[in-house]
Amino acid sequence: MGIKETNYWLETVAERVVGSSDLLPEQVDVAVIGAGFCGLSAGLALAKRGVRVAVLEAETLGWGASCRNGGMVLTGMKLPVPTLIGRYGRDAVQRMYAASLESIELVERIVREEGIACSFARCGHLEVACKQKHFADYAAAAAEIKREFNHELRIIPKSELAGEIGSDIYFGGMVDEHSVSVNPAQYVSGLAKAAQRAGASLYDHARVTGLKRQVASGKKSFRLETVRGTINAKEVILATGAYTTNATPALQKKLIPIGSYIIATEVLSPELARELSPRNRMIYDSKHFLYYYRVTPDNRMLFGGRAAFFPESESTVRESAELLRRGMIEVYPQLAQTRVEFVWGGTLDFAFDVMPHSGQIDDMHFAMGFAGHGVAAATWMGTKLAEVICGDADDNPFSKIPFPAAPIGLRSGNSWALPLAGAYYKVLDWLT
Ligand SMILES: Cc1cc2nc3c(=O)[nH]c(=O)nc-3n(C[C@H](O)[C@H](O)[C@H](O)COP(=O)(O)OP(=O)(O)OC[C@H]3O[C@@H](n4cnc5c(N)ncnc54)[C@H](O)[C@@H]3O)c2cc1C
Repeated sequence: MGIKETNYWLETVAERVVGSSDLLPEQVDVAVIGAGFCGLSAGLALAKRGVRVAVLEAETLGWGASCRNGGMVLTGMKLPVPTLIGRYGRDAVQRMYAASLESIELVERIVREEGIACSFARCGHLEVACKQKHFADYAAAAAEIKREFNHELRIIPKSELAGEIGSDIYFGGMVDEHSVSVNPAQYVSGLAKAAQRAGASLYDHARVTGLKRQVASGKKSFRLETVRGTINAKEVILATGAYTTNATPALQKKLIPIGSYIIATEVLSPELARELSPRNRMIYDSKHFLYYYRVTPDNRMLFGGRAAFFPESESTVRESAELLRRGMIEVYPQLAQTRVEFVWGGTLDFAFDVMPHSGQIDDMHFAMGFAGHGVAAATWMGTKLAEVICGDADDNPFSKIPFPAAPIGLRSGNSWALPLAGAYYKVLDWLT
């Protein structure tokens, strides 16, 4: 049987949530563009506070990165702590780290309060070292995280790694018990249902093609052109992630879309699944071009990586199946005869400083740059944007940092010179 070029997670969603087929309202308080974790959590929080909100999605609800990812709900941020403190100062970084932990609690609270069946589990994550030097660095990293944030990580020497992973290619590991696993398609679908129940109007196949800011009697508002007609809103939230288009050029310029790909094997025996991942951790390795992998609730090995430095397309998805299968067998020779059943791709939203950002751009609210931490971070940021619109104080540490544009030479016309950026990361991998 051939490999299905479809997202495995979607096959686990019993009933897809669809948007309203009604005509778009003429006027709402807030229009949210994009129905992923960010847009839907904003829609949910706004509706719960009685705000008239419409979420406009170009494709189907949850269609973007939110239904395609690894479902790893991770603590921390991508960059090392000393880099972060050097850039933003100790206080700000402590608030950022606290936000990363709070964002996991928020996902847990939403899942519990809204009764979302998405296999939420506090399984912890394991980072594995691809080089001796990477392992040697773990002790200092864990000590820093303990000192700065009072958060405990556990170092696993190579001699004890078999208790964590059924692979002997790594030099050791580091565990954070706080991280979580979810089925992302079920989670985003549950968020959409929760937002609808709370009173948010969700519209799918409603791509926004143009936005115009207008001022009448001293008050600003926005006129949004969509493929389903026009809608006016007092406030706009841009929650378009890596799929941001030239409908919002100022934001598009600040993002670098990075393709990432995932394969899922056939269902494994419970014994083999346990051998590969005895504690069912969310696992990723220490390279920049990293592999991330986990066992799914029905015992498939789900294995992902940045097999190409481009937004996904049919051909990159196809090529990735074999590249990732080879990567998976390097890690787990036990899977050499295992059939790969699914392959799919998605696009991650990176900012050029590898940080998440939120705030206002052209008078509209936005949040993005979640990279591989978007399950929790996008949920949290969407909720925070809603709170700010409702008049709460802005306590989001990521809204106070500069949001840089692309370094010179990395942008050509309307697209990023991505191979150059790809080469940069490959060199980093080689050097570190
Ligand atoms: C393969 C892959 C693996 C990943 N693994 C993990 C992981 O394990 N853990 C983790 O935390 N994160 C992971 N991520 C990242 C995470 O999925 C994202 O950061 C997160 O889903 C972003 O959510 P979002 O709501 O901001 O954007 P998205 O979910 O991408 O939603 C944006 C939506 O906006 C819509 N849109 C765009 N333009 C318009 C328009 N003009 N009009 C209307 N709608 C529009 C798009 O159609 C899209 O549905 C992964 C991402 C990928 C691609």
